[in-house]
Amino acid sequence: MSKPLTLLLEEQGPFGIDGDVDAAKQRWIAYRVANGYKATATPLLGDPESNLKLKKTGYAESQMAIVYGLSLLPADASGIDACVWRSPECTSACVLMTAGHSTFPTVRQGRKVKTLFLRDHPQDFVLLLAWELRRAAKKHGGIAVRLNVASDLRWERIAPQLFELEGIVFYDYTKAPRSQRDQLGGKYHLTFSVSEKSQSEGEALKWLADGGNAAVVFDTKKGEALPETWHGYPVLDGDITDARHEDLPSAVVGLRAKGSARSMEAGGFVKKGVSS
Ligand code: SF4
Repeated sequence: MSKPLTLLLEEQGPFGIDGDVDAAKQRWIAYRVANGYKATATPLLGDPESNLKLKKTGYAESQMAIVYGLSLLPADASGIDACVWRSPECTSACVLMTAGHSTFPTVRQGRKVKTLFLRDHPQDFVLLLAWELRRAAKKHGGIAVRLNVASDLRWERIAPQLFELEGIVFYDYTKAPRSQRDQLGGKYHLTFSVSEKSQSEGEALKWLADGGNAAVVFDTKKGEALPETWHGYPVLDGDITDARHEDLPSAVVGLRAKGSARSMEAGGFVKKGVSS
């Protein structure tokens, strides 16, 4: 297995956001054709209306009503690891592989080609991404964006200029330790995602103590109340909205187990739904 994608890109970057977009588009089309697709420049960002996970953002009263997401192929399913801090249980339960239209081979193949285009032509990818983001922000008068819908890349190192784009709120989940990520002074909201790894709860407490957020999957059933606290920190219901950047500081984002995680025994990736 080659070097994880984020490390590979960080070594080569950072990549700028201004340049010849038309030339980048032509290389994207050629890459798609070489991989058996039609000669079209399919957008890198998902249609905000088509992603169920991002659709329930609860933005009704917020200015940032539209959420765009960049969906790559998670874990090492494309041949390069897009989530270097993942755990065995999150990998096997990954809803980005096991649920919804992510299970369709055609969707997976499209995401694979996109992931490999990022690996092989990172500067073109970032130029196209910035172009799409600018266009979407202008069209909607402001958007929210998740660059790591199904990956865990340090975009703050790969393409820090993206976070200077106007009218865009960036937010993501990460499994990286607090010391490994930079929220660029609040321009990139990150929520730590707790796993079954032995050091993961300790890392979550570091994020929380630092005013950040940590997401915890509980064995609480659908329709039932989540625990009120976790390690003394208040638990928010993360199933109501995906607008993580609007969460209170130092709050836990409680999630109910979904997909194959429902059958996992509490104590690992899934935690017991009692206050602690
Ligand atoms: S880190 Fe996230 S995207 Fe990657 S395998 Fe785990 S759950 Fe899936």
